[in-house]
Amino acid sequence: MLNVRTDEIRRLLLGTFVRPVTETGTGQPRVEAVYGYLVRHDHGLVLFDTGLGLGDGETEDWYRPRRIALTDALTTVGVALHEINVVVNCHLHFDHCGGNPMLAGRPVVCQRRELAAAEQGNYTMEHLIDYPGSTYDLLDGEAEISPGIHVIPTPGHVDGHQSVVVECEDGSVVLAGQSHDTASAWSADALAASAKTLGHTEPLPLAPVWMERLLAFDPKRVVLAHDAAVWEPNTTGLHLSSAACPDVARRPDCETGA
Ligand SMILES: [Zn+2]
Repeated sequence: MLNVRTDEIRRLLLGTFVRPVTETGTGQPRVEAVYGYLVRHDHGLVLFDTGLGLGDGETEDWYRPRRIALTDALTTVGVALHEINVVVNCHLHFDHCGGNPMLAGRPVVCQRRELAAAEQGNYTMEHLIDYPGSTYDLLDGEAEISPGIHVIPTPGHVDGHQSVVVECEDGSVVLAGQSHDTASAWSADALAASAKTLGHTEPLPLAPVWMERLLAFDPKRVVLAHDAAVWEPNTTGLHLSSAACPDVARRPDCETGA
């Protein structure tokens, strides 16, 4: 366990891009944010994802990215680039490892199969994975890279996708990357994985096999790479913040709505 609280894990907004209509399935393009997460522990700072790298002309035209410099994003949480000790990428697409070359010399933790896929081409930007000082800590499956920091394979978006579980003083946080596009999609799979425990019988939806592994950490919070929404578990008597339900005492509809 780390000597940090869950709310000490910091989110960094690293930019936005527009996912084209052909990728959304909704009939409209979608503006998506790109988030990284910073975890401070006894031995230094771990950065989970580093933002949008410079794409080639085709990629730039396709996703129309707007970047926030990693150094500027880190400044908002009082951290300098040189203080980062370890980088973990959920995967190596250009919108997740864009700042890696700025952190040359620092080990990049990823799945061996993910780097192999990236090196085969037509996958990411080569200059983001092969740069002066690039060094990798390659994993073949699950690993506890530091006491209380677990890397868990979560294939789906890509075969080599991975998530991180941080065991804090007051509970665990899952940095799920792009295991799911949205917190709602995570929520649906979490319920699917728990359906039999809840007493439901077949037919039931299938959840990724690794959901049970992540849920075994009893996460207090799950955060994602492209969604600002945060998943929190089912709890009886959940205390909603005033921001979620303002003036609840004077608005009985707020207590009874679906
Ligand atoms: Zn992405």
